[in-house]
Amino acid sequence: MEQKLKELERKALEEVRAASDLKELNQVRVSYLGKKGPITEVLRGMGKLSAEERPKMGALGNMIRETITKAIENKNVELENEAVAKKLEAETIDVTLPGRSVATGNRHPLTKIIEEIEDLFIGMGYKIAEGPEVEQDYYNFEALNFPKGHPSRDMQDSFYITEEILMRTHTSPVQARTMKKHEGKGPVKIICPGKVYRRDNDDATHSHQFMQIEGLVVDENITMGDLKGTLEVFAKKIFGADREIRLRPSFFPFTEPSVEMDISCKICHGEGCRVCKQTGWIEVLGAGMVHPNVLEMAGFDSKKYTGFAFGMGPDRIAMLKYGIEDIRYFYTNDIRFLKQFAVQE
Ligand SMILES: [Zn+2]
Repeated sequence: MEQKLKELERKALEEVRAASDLKELNQVRVSYLGKKGPITEVLRGMGKLSAEERPKMGALGNMIRETITKAIENKNVELENEAVAKKLEAETIDVTLPGRSVATGNRHPLTKIIEEIEDLFIGMGYKIAEGPEVEQDYYNFEALNFPKGHPSRDMQDSFYITEEILMRTHTSPVQARTMKKHEGKGPVKIICPGKVYRRDNDDATHSHQFMQIEGLVVDENITMGDLKGTLEVFAKKIFGADREIRLRPSFFPFTEPSVEMDISCKICHGEGCRVCKQTGWIEVLGAGMVHPNVLEMAGFDSKKYTGFAFGMGPDRIAMLKYGIEDIRYFYTNDIRFLKQFAVQE
């Protein structure tokens, strides 16, 4: 019996040593130390032994149980440490990996252009004026010398809310409102940026919603020379010092005389190319001397005061400046398009 017990001890310790994980070790414990295990089985035969030998074998059995229990405990600690070490190794932070960058937005190209133009004119002493996008027919048309039923209104078909209320078709009503606030006293020197709306079918160069910036100066002794000088500063600042400007006669109901300003083509420098439609020039904005009717309607004495106004589309300016071919890119929120302007922040 002694031999049988010792043989069991040897086998058990061997299996403990060979256990490669906690699960295997547990199986060894259950099979050797359990109530139906081989040690218990052997000790059951003690009844056949002499009274002298019985306690000896009982003590040996207990000792072997203890030895195996101890061995299992030690092995248990060993395996647990091993598992922790393995886990630590697997979860080690590699500090040499580049960090994940936080996604940041950037300003919309139109916002950038508008802010650039605003900065330029603020530097020349202009104030920024704003007005409602839902506007009265009076300020949008009548006060700007577009009488009811006049054909000049056809160029600016709008979205009407009622007969008298509409989505503004230009930022000019802000000029009319600002002049009225001045109660016939100059100087007025403002630029008005904002959204405007027209009933146009959307295509590469038309959008039912777009941006405008207009400028207005009213004071004594304001001449066409002041207008030309101002536009020249604007063109060189926004498009580059090497650009030339030219003024062509045009028509707007609220200015007289009226002009269109072109800048020289930067691709061909006036030679003529596809971009400038072989003319050497690119149309940028409209301007003119404020019509005496407009001054009078706003309460200014047109014999004492003169003024100039200009208006441009930041969409068009941005398209020219950045070489964008389709106005719809500004309004469709395609991240791939908008992201290109992040590098220039
Ligand atoms: Zn050209």
